[in-house]
Amino acid sequence: MKTTLKTTITVKDICEGFVYNELEGKGLFGLSGKLTIQPEYQRNYIYADGKKDVAVIESILKGYPLGLIYFVKVAEEKYEVLDGQQRITSIGRYVTDKFAVKDEHGMEQHFGSLPADKQRIILETPLLIYECEGEESEIKEWFKTINISGVPLNNQELLNAIYSWPFVTLAKEEFSNTQNANIQKWSAYIKGSANRQEFLERALDWVSKGKIDDYMSRHRYEHTIAELKTYFTSVIDWVSSVFRDVEKEMCGLEWGKLYEQYHKKAFDPLQVSIEVQKLYADSYVKNRKWVFEYVLGGMQDTKLLEVRIFDDATKMSVYKKQAQEAETKWVSNCSYCAVWHDANKNKIWKLAEMDADHVTAWSKGGGTDISNCEMLCKTHNRAKGNK
Ligand SMILES: [Zn+2]
Repeated sequence: MKTTLKTTITVKDICEGFVYNELEGKGLFGLSGKLTIQPEYQRNYIYADGKKDVAVIESILKGYPLGLIYFVKVAEEKYEVLDGQQRITSIGRYVTDKFAVKDEHGMEQHFGSLPADKQRIILETPLLIYECEGEESEIKEWFKTINISGVPLNNQELLNAIYSWPFVTLAKEEFSNTQNANIQKWSAYIKGSANRQEFLERALDWVSKGKIDDYMSRHRYEHTIAELKTYFTSVIDWVSSVFRDVEKEMCGLEWGKLYEQYHKKAFDPLQVSIEVQKLYADSYVKNRKWVFEYVLGGMQDTKLLEVRIFDDATKMSVYKKQAQEAETKWVSNCSYCAVWHDANKNKIWKLAEMDADHVTAWSKGGGTDISNCEMLCKTHNRAKGNK
């Protein structure tokens, strides 16, 4: 691979013929049409947050370094941005008055409203550009290692860069397209944003059973994403038909795994809804995000729900009551010790030597309240728990 450092290209040169596509969220072209800012393997523009884009412009105004920018020479007088796309798009959007930056008096200023000398500072700022020429594979391998700009590429963005074209192109059109009307529905079950490839990542994770890298490399030259799309739709349709009500704790669960495990089992959505609502209303269910897996599994695995333990006030109050009764009857304050004719049958245990026990197990409907609490010596509590 051949690299050449260029130091004479200025902001003005780059912004000549700058085109930004608001709909796709992409900076498209610059450098009088010679530069493609958003090649296929690049992520969408994510600096438009009023902070990172502003920081780029403030850096220029203060003369701070913007960092290296990498171009790939793809043909004579044709370049693609390999790294620096976010910075270039920020610059281009600022110079074309797409956003404003506060000046030293705290006033929002668009580029067009800046005094001429400040405009000149920006336009005449040279950029440090590495121009690279080489085979696609070596450039992509290298791209995987540089990863130097402000926001590091996340895993999926990196994979998109490595396995670009044509599978990724089609997959991104479906799963990373903020205009896709399905995104709102998906957002109920999947965390993240389309822009940062997080829906695509989930879709690939599900269809590949966690082997995204392998799946992408096997399908990269295919001109169809039918399998990916069908599988993803099956999972989403399954979740939304089994669980009628959308709860916020459903977002981000391992739906792919749950689908694999349970989609062949029949569920009555009405019954499921009743069970879920019952568990949601139960203040002893500590962690609601496990409710769905618990219901899918036929409500067997109560450990999933992390039932709340008895609090100290309850334990103390139950302990005092048991100790008083035990002393009047001359028996142990552990009811199990009291019925066994061994050395401990009259023993009064200290609070620290006892544990709280559910008289009726939670799985059989027993609550975690004072009426269902009994203090047992640690040995008997353990023995009962093991049954
Ligand atoms: Zn005991």
